[in-house]
Amino acid sequence: MFNPTAQSVAMKNSPVVTTQKRKSTFSLPSLNAQTIDWTNAPLELASVRNCPHFVNTLQTYFPGALPLPVYMERTVQALEEYGFEDENTMGMIAICRDEITDPLYEAVVKYWGKTFNCCSLGGFVLMGKTGLAAAKGHTPLLSGLRRFTFYAMPHIAISRYGKVGEVSREGIADASHACGALEAIVAELEMGKLMIEMDMQDIEQTIIRQKILSQLKYGDRPDLVGITQLASQIISADVGKLLSSLDTNVFHYSVMTGIQIHGPLESQWIYPQDFYIAGKAFGDGHIGINAFT
Ligand SMILES: [Zn+2]
Repeated sequence: MFNPTAQSVAMKNSPVVTTQKRKSTFSLPSLNAQTIDWTNAPLELASVRNCPHFVNTLQTYFPGALPLPVYMERTVQALEEYGFEDENTMGMIAICRDEITDPLYEAVVKYWGKTFNCCSLGGFVLMGKTGLAAAKGHTPLLSGLRRFTFYAMPHIAISRYGKVGEVSREGIADASHACGALEAIVAELEMGKLMIEMDMQDIEQTIIRQKILSQLKYGDRPDLVGITQLASQIISADVGKLLSSLDTNVFHYSVMTGIQIHGPLESQWIYPQDFYIAGKAFGDGHIGINAFT
């Protein structure tokens, strides 16, 4: 049912540009423990090769996922060719409030400097027009142009034993879970008990639930992987809708969506979905960028 693939990296109905990639210090041609070139892998990732169950699960559900540092390098390198640089661009990010997502937040700040926080439970984009109005007023104005990069995605954990949804956290003996907000909806679907009324004491979760349910057919009960993939699609669509009101004569922006994956040994991975830029100087509509294959 929900089966986004690595091929969906480029927006449908958009021209696709293949960008020359900066030579990465760590190549990951395919996620197979036997074929990954671990030679130049960062130390924390090299240890992951000893977790074959994790690698197999990652490859099965998220083929083409990249280590976070490689993903960031690819997006930054690609965007430089379109004039996006740390000095003239503000970061924006919508990921889950969970502190386990911090490495992605920190990576966006590292590459793009000042970053507008659009985070909510599950990584859903709930900032609305008011939030966007504030953010766009903060973007640097240089030679009549304002630029920002927008990273938005849900997250999921995979344990060293290949168990989806499980992660170990510092100071907590038992296996912990991610994403808890999405897991709660999976559990409600399994029980057949859905809290569909607006709960003013739980507004974010209420909206997430409504957004997901509105995309399901009666009787659908996707598992955590399915719900997370669906969340990624909803977030991608919501970002596109939110930013469609911007005047592209003034705003040049890029959007990067996908799924953040927490692996063993604190490794972080990104399964890319959309990567595109928008701006009058680039022509009408979005230009999809293929920087991951
Ligand atoms: Zn979460």
